[in-house]
Amino acid sequence: MRCIICKGNTIETKRTFIQEDENCIIIIKNVPAIVCSQCGEVYYKDEIAEKLEEIINRLQNMVKDVAIFEFDKVVDAA
Ligand SMILES: [Zn+2]
Repeated sequence: MRCIICKGNTIETKRTFIQEDENCIIIIKNVPAIVCSQCGEVYYKDEIAEKLEEIINRLQNMVKDVAIFEFDKVVDAA
């Protein structure tokens, strides 16, 4: 795909996803992502975005303060 913002080339890679709210910070490492090589904008495929949302919803009830997860490990439990 091409970057929606600058039309630059994108590459598939892995990124750390960070979700912050009032009570907790959830860090998920090695999330498959698509990153623009020109402007650095990060995109997630629909299926990945959906899984991230599920994971965050589930973890928000469990996590206090800060927690770090590996995407591969938490996605299987969804
Ligand atoms: Zn771009």
